Amino acid sequence: MKDNKSDRFATRAVHQGRGYAGSTGAVMPPVFLTSTFASGNPDGFDYTRSGNPNFRLLEQSAASLEGARHATCFASGVSAITAVISTLKSGDLVLAEENIYGCTYRLLDRVFGKFGIRVHYCDLSRVENWAQIGRRRPALVWIESPTNPLLKIVDVAGISAQAAGEGIPVVVDNTFASAWLQRPIDLGATLSLSSTTKYVNGHSDCLGGFVATNDPAWHERMVFAQKALGLQPSPFDAWLTTRGQRTLPLRMERHCANALALAAWLEQRKGVRRVRYPFLPSHPQHELARRQMKAGSGMVALELDCAAETALAFCRRLRLFTLAESLGGVESLICHPASMTHASVPPEVRRQVGIGDGLLRLSVGIEDVEDLRQDLDSQLREVLGV
Ligand SMILES: *Cc1c(COP(=O)(O)O)cnc(C)c1O
Repeated sequence: MKDNKSDRFATRAVHQGRGYAGSTGAVMPPVFLTSTFASGNPDGFDYTRSGNPNFRLLEQSAASLEGARHATCFASGVSAITAVISTLKSGDLVLAEENIYGCTYRLLDRVFGKFGIRVHYCDLSRVENWAQIGRRRPALVWIESPTNPLLKIVDVAGISAQAAGEGIPVVVDNTFASAWLQRPIDLGATLSLSSTTKYVNGHSDCLGGFVATNDPAWHERMVFAQKALGLQPSPFDAWLTTRGQRTLPLRMERHCANALALAAWLEQRKGVRRVRYPFLPSHPQHELARRQMKAGSGMVALELDCAAETALAFCRRLRLFTLAESLGGVESLICHPASMTHASVPPEVRRQVGIGDGLLRLSVGIEDVEDLRQDLDSQLREVLGV
């Protein structure tokens, strides 16, 4: 392996995660499709549930890009979340940002709730709520930034400093940003968690997740959870993710440039009530976003001036944006939260948290931005008549 700590991000993205080629000279690693390893091998592998060369390559490259000493890979983002929460015990409290990912909420509520883990939700984008960390003394603080679907920005450095003063660990779900835009460990978080299904792999062809940390005790807990709970990925998915990660900087640059251009155009477009994008001056936390992130990421939220059925019809008529959940792939996707991701939330609660009937979430891909703009423009004209 040709890794050098002084190499910059894009260089490490390409050169980390190589190895185990043996005497073949293969430039890229093989896939180790094996469940077990002969006892006493020099690399110390025994059984794939607790380790495999493809996991090790992904873990080394993920740790390098996150600026962390350790990373542990899992079968999905939800597996990574399960690994972290499984370290708690009955009676422990999680203090969570109120706008966290829906499956994290469901896991805490419907699964870990049964085992006595309690959760208190509050708006951690409001500095006055940070005092709850000292007052409630949670076992874990759980934040996410930007959040889904409204792209709220949460101050990772500020909250991490507050929690560190109380000796309380902070987990950041970094899925919407990726290490290219924001490095939670550098900002003081204890754990940086990602669903690699999204930007890190970036090709919508496999699921995965990882947890990165500088803390050896947390690393040991993650390694234990990987094998004891059976949360490991398949070697092939780990290989795909390692491959996808090599182009993370290139893809993110294009995602961010395309999203910024579309968001700025949509903000001026008739028929669009409002646009949310972290790197537009109209975003309520624009300054914090500029401080915390290198660019605004590929997600754009917009509210059309129309009823839910019309908004959904608009999505279905688009040619290049596919109506689908998920995000972070090379292809553009569109999602209508009121009828998809947040359909189970009662309409009055949806309105209260800002998820209107006309709200749409774009995952802007890496296509030519002019084609994407024309696609949106022509259906605004066709479906909304504007
Ligand atoms: C998708 C997602 C997850 C879950 O990841 P999976 O790989 O789908 O299990 C967790 N957090 C965020 C913010 C996500 O977008």
